[in-house]
Amino acid sequence: MAGYVGRFAPSPTGPLHEGSLVAALASWLDARAHGGRWLVRIEDVDLPRCVPGADQIILRQLAACGLLPDDTPLWQSHRGERYRQALERLLAEGWAYPCGCTRKDIADALAAQGRVRERHGELVYPGTCRNGLQGKPPRAMRALCATRHGGGGWTDIEIAWQDRRLGPQRQNLSRAVGDFVLQRADGLWAYQLAVVVDDAEQQVSHVVRGEDLADNTPRQIHLQRLLGLPTPSYLHTPLVLGANGEKLSKQNGALAFDDSRPRVALARAAAALGLALPEGGTPADTLGAAVAAWRERWPAAA
Ligand code: GLU
Repeated sequence: MAGYVGRFAPSPTGPLHEGSLVAALASWLDARAHGGRWLVRIEDVDLPRCVPGADQIILRQLAACGLLPDDTPLWQSHRGERYRQALERLLAEGWAYPCGCTRKDIADALAAQGRVRERHGELVYPGTCRNGLQGKPPRAMRALCATRHGGGGWTDIEIAWQDRRLGPQRQNLSRAVGDFVLQRADGLWAYQLAVVVDDAEQQVSHVVRGEDLADNTPRQIHLQRLLGLPTPSYLHTPLVLGANGEKLSKQNGALAFDDSRPRVALARAAAALGLALPEGGTPADTLGAAVAAWRERWPAAA
């Protein structure tokens, strides 16, 4: 497909594990199945969580599996100026604002309203600083997730989107998420802003990533619309669960896969994606068979 650009966007918090190899493989397969390009972006905005050298290990692991990016990888830590420009545009247009609330301020405000709204351990911000800081020093920068209507009240923003695997999706951004952080109190850029700016910069047309990230998509679509950027097509793949039924992640101790046996690692990743592959052969044979199997399983995206 002309113009297809896919990407894999690992956070270098450690080597790739079996779950992240599945995400890498799925995005690569979809790009190849569409005759498109595949890029890699190192998402190292959350520097305190990054492990020095993990980026190079990840690139080496991918290369050992024959997953070679079609262009030089992008490092988010080099892109602060672009994130700042995007934030400035949102601030200038009234779609972002400084927030002076601490976590305790947010919890107290929610309790005073008789609401304790928590989502994945995050409090849903009640919008306290939408009307100004009221003397508090600015801490984080937030994206506005509601539209002001004539009488001074707010109208919710609903985002509807289509996922190639999950089908039609819908989220009331104002209620489910609230005004989310674009730049943290410590100055670090938030994933939501960085990913939107960089998907556009890399001209990503198709995002293929794990289902745990599906819930972020409405926030990203909201920012794309505010910044006048195109919305890519989305496919969220099933998560790979460990023996204990939990999502495989570095946090719960998933192991780096063994890149001295790339064919075995690739075959396991392909199996997790429901692709049945013939035994044996080289990593290149495995990848070739996986592209054919992927094409059958996932119809071409629009
Ligand atoms: N950096 C994110 C992660 O490793 C992935 C972001 C994305 O694919 O949008 O979970």
